[in-house]
Amino acid sequence: MLILVTNDDGIESEGLVKLQSALTSVGEVLVIAPDRDWTGAGHSKSIHKTLRVFERELSDGSRAYATDGTPTDCVALGVLGLVGRRPDVVVSGINKGPNLGHDITYSGTVAAAIEAAINEVPAIAVSLGGYESWRFDFAADFTARLLRVIMAGDPHPGALFNVNVPGLPASEIKGIETTRLGQRIYRDVLMGMEEPDAGRCYRITGEMPDGLEEEGTDIKALAEGKISITPIHLDLTHHRLLSQLQTSGLEEELNRALFGATAANLGALGCVSPKTPAW
Ligand code: MN
Repeated sequence: MLILVTNDDGIESEGLVKLQSALTSVGEVLVIAPDRDWTGAGHSKSIHKTLRVFERELSDGSRAYATDGTPTDCVALGVLGLVGRRPDVVVSGINKGPNLGHDITYSGTVAAAIEAAINEVPAIAVSLGGYESWRFDFAADFTARLLRVIMAGDPHPGALFNVNVPGLPASEIKGIETTRLGQRIYRDVLMGMEEPDAGRCYRITGEMPDGLEEEGTDIKALAEGKISITPIHLDLTHHRLLSQLQTSGLEEELNRALFGATAANLGALGCVSPKTPAW
């Protein structure tokens, strides 16, 4: 089994090194990681940019590839054939700091796993809670165990597992909970800065986010000292709202207004392409 390991904190991050080391007990590990910190990069992909790739030695002596691309690019490089073999699974992390609820839309760690899911490669994103005293060892061992279990069962390509491990000593961790995404509460503020000759300068800053501690959510599980495992898929469709729209008459009303009654009726049967609307 070929395991592609990447992250968004960059190739120097201890979380990456400890993760790849733990995963060598599960399969063959290929590290492709960004040469810098891309925290908050989201699912950014380099479309019109040449990606540079360098062979590097990690701090534990193992071999790796570094690139000036994003975490998403790292997975694309691996899946599209950087080493001539397609990875069987992608593991991203271990991120410094949790990725809970809406965080997954900002997170480069999760985005790397999303890129894997889009390419039908099973994936796990792993983040460590707390914001200090990084206890990567337990999280790395746990991820190796989880990977074994997932790959021995039905790994669900097209989905990913978003894992958050509390930043606690192993003896204080209260167990494991499978969860849904919770609701983050951000406390962003805009801070203006005086920088003569630099135009108007701002930073988006503020206190660390918290969230609604609702039962069954990743936010609540982590707050209780549990490891949360949230399965994620990429259908962002709001199905309940879609049903409401479909029974609301909205389609018919707009079709009639834009394309006329006849076209609306035929269009509903899929028979015609509507004429260009007279805007
Ligand atoms: Mn990060």
